[in-house]
Amino acid sequence: MPTYAPPIDDFLFLLHEVLRVQTRDDIAGFTDLETDLTRPILEGAGDFLTGVWQPLNQVGDEEGCRLENGVVRTPRGFAEAYRAYCEAGWNRLGAAEVHGGAGLPGVISQAVYEMTSSANASLAHYPALTNGACSSLALTGAPWMLQHVVPRMVSGDWCGTMCLTESHCGTDLRLMSTRAVAQADGSYRITGTKIFISGGDHDLTENIIHLVLAKLPDENGRYSDDLATVNLFMVPKVKVDPETGALGVRNGVNVGGLEKKMGLKGSATCVLNFDDAVGYRLGTTKNDAAPGSKSAAMSGMFHMMNHARLGTGVGAIAAAEVAYQNSALYAQERRSGRAVSGADRGEAAADPIIVHPDVRRMLLQQRAFVEGARAAALWVAELLHEEQAGAEPAQRERAAGLGQLLTPVIKAYFSDRGFEAANAAVQIYGGHGYIRENGVEQFVRDARIFQLYEGANGIQALDLVARKLPMAGGRPVLAFLGEVERIADIAAGASTDLAGYAASLRRGGKAIEEAIAWLRRTGPERGETLGAASYDVLNLFGVVLLGALWLRMAVVAERQLAAGEGDPAFLRRKLVLARYWFEREMPTVETLLRRAQSGADGLMALAAEAF
Ligand SMILES: Cc1cc2nc3c(=O)[nH]c(=O)nc-3n(C[C@H](O)[C@H](O)[C@H](O)COP(=O)(O)OP(=O)(O)OC[C@H]3O[C@@H](n4cnc5c(N)ncnc54)[C@H](O)[C@@H]3O)c2cc1C
Repeated sequence: MPTYAPPIDDFLFLLHEVLRVQTRDDIAGFTDLETDLTRPILEGAGDFLTGVWQPLNQVGDEEGCRLENGVVRTPRGFAEAYRAYCEAGWNRLGAAEVHGGAGLPGVISQAVYEMTSSANASLAHYPALTNGACSSLALTGAPWMLQHVVPRMVSGDWCGTMCLTESHCGTDLRLMSTRAVAQADGSYRITGTKIFISGGDHDLTENIIHLVLAKLPDENGRYSDDLATVNLFMVPKVKVDPETGALGVRNGVNVGGLEKKMGLKGSATCVLNFDDAVGYRLGTTKNDAAPGSKSAAMSGMFHMMNHARLGTGVGAIAAAEVAYQNSALYAQERRSGRAVSGADRGEAAADPIIVHPDVRRMLLQQRAFVEGARAAALWVAELLHEEQAGAEPAQRERAAGLGQLLTPVIKAYFSDRGFEAANAAVQIYGGHGYIRENGVEQFVRDARIFQLYEGANGIQALDLVARKLPMAGGRPVLAFLGEVERIADIAAGASTDLAGYAASLRRGGKAIEEAIAWLRRTGPERGETLGAASYDVLNLFGVVLLGALWLRMAVVAERQLAAGEGDPAFLRRKLVLARYWFEREMPTVETLLRRAQSGADGLMALAAEAF
């Protein structure tokens, strides 16, 4: 059975030595984050998750969810483990105190989320989706929802979902057919069928709050394919009295089916039928002028989606971490062949496979991705908190722009690389990785979904090049390139190795500039140019983003080693992993740039019927 050891030392190193959150007096709430606060939280959550959630991971995969008389039953032990998690308060670390949360910055709740997903990715889904739906409701809900619904989602008594997808439309939401009809009392009646709804039904909580996209008719009562008619509605599984918050009778929401799927088998993926269900339109957000306006409706959805996209990237890190840990243990034990430079364990018939360079290539590829990506994801969590709690307006604007720019990169680059890392675990196990009882093939099946949902990765790439690069006059991308230069500058006084990494990082920044300049020049000539280049440009951002974070970590590691601070073995390992990134990953920026610049002609040359 696979094991999992929470990477507490890495979280603490990133929070306190690299990001130095405790020194950031320009971000409200950060100076409280001393190690005597963060360490017990991370260790406590880690102990709970390894003791209670992780042993249920394979159980969940083997049993899956069942649909019995219209009700979804989660695998054995899931309901108790979910309740124990909520009772211990791990689910409400990041929620606002006014709603019953602990009000801690997202850097802490994100670290805990990563551990939940490494321990049991299926079970982690239920509270993660609830948090996303709940924070969107907290922004866009009416006062009665903030009083009666949000606190019960924060406590974990009620779960939440997001209901966007229909059988004929996932990416293209204009095509949805779920409809909303206004009622005299201000509520709406929702009718339609949603598919693939995670946590659409289950036995963990007495109520489920569905956030549902549905269309409103125009003034002539007609429904069109205009995206502007799509609105977000809160539709409870069991009706809630807006006056008292008391639970009433079942709403018109029923499970039409439970999907049989490749992985995440303990996470219920449901077909949901909304049949004249009572719903409430969500509208006002602090960014919107007009409550209930078109932009207000969509901003609630985008808030939820962005939350989910970052969560997806972190879920991919989590899968890669646990896959890495098990393959590293296996590589120490499994014996085959001899070290080329002479027997490593002369007394045994063969050496452990970790002596072979090709096995090390895979282990380092996994670990350099995981630790670089974790650093980047925590930096983005810091930015998202800074967007809300930064001291200066310009600081908040910069943080918001960077967060938005990097969200598709975190979603897509991390989920591709996380899947690759999970897959490398099967390769390191050889044939034994393909066999179910060893448990690593589950990581591959579970991690595959991260590349697909919350907007498939190709759509993230389009979002990056078409929306995020030109956003706000290009200021966010300039801020990112400025950050790359700043990090390269801090390595200036460091060792020759790090000075070389700094030069390579600068080259990465220049490659991004060249790609953007090329897109600006050639994009207007041919419509498909952006789409043809988008995936390579996104990967370019991913490699450079992790390069920037690896250089930041390497500078700290080198300084601490010179000063005799910290754990020397931990710090030396960081330097070796940084070296891996700069020797083996940064050179790919040239290929990515060249491929991005090859244009659309070759991709579009064949007529559709020739495929
Ligand atoms: C296990 C699971 C859980 C899920 N959970 C939820 C949930 O909780 N809530 C929910 O609402 N949905 C959920 N989904 C749905 C998921 O978000 C969608 O499957 C996903 O967004 C892709 O939509 P689609 O499957 O319709 O693919 P399509 O939209 O048909 O896309 C197919 C392919 O075509 C590409 N493509 C499509 N349009 C374009 C375009 N315009 N330009 C370029 N490329 C394009 C895509 O990138 C993709 O590679 C879940 C799905 C699964 C499998």
